[in-house]
Amino acid sequence: GIRLKDEIFRVKQMIKAAQINFESKGEFALQNVSLLTENILSMCLKEAVNNVVKHSEAKTCSIGISQLWKETVLTIHDDGVFKGDADKLCAGHGLIGMKERLEFINGSLEVLTEDGTTLIITVPNDVK
Ligand code: ATP
Ligand code: MG
Repeated sequence: GIRLKDEIFRVKQMIKAAQINFESKGEFALQNVSLLTENILSMCLKEAVNNVVKHSEAKTCSIGISQLWKETVLTIHDDGVFKGDADKLCAGHGLIGMKERLEFINGSLEVLTEDGTTLIITVPNDVK
């Protein structure tokens, strides 16, 4: 499995190679999250950044992580233009697959398309 800290390193390279500015906020070395949850977060991050590079035409991509008491929230924002249908996420398998994997671990995916594209990924933390 891939740790989030390793995946953030890889997606940073992808974003820079696409000549998009990269910003990040938060501590990507996670605590109180199972390895399965962390692997799913890493897959979601990878797919989200594939979409930014492939579809967004953004200047900047910002990735944030925050660990709250009960949940961990990962956000991927780009300042491009969303090209799909936010109500019917079925153009490809990326966003649908992300949503399905997250629901499997009682997490969720929210897609905001007002100001560029923002994915808000929330997963529950594991009880210690
Ligand atoms: P796949 O992921 O299977 O290769 P895909 O990328 O087209 O195909 P999704 O990842 O599900 O499919 O995304 C659905 C659609 O939403 C995309 O085709 C694209 O039009 C739009 N989209 C997704 N992410 C972004 C983004 N960051 N910026 C602009 N448009 C996006
Ligand atoms: Mg995709």
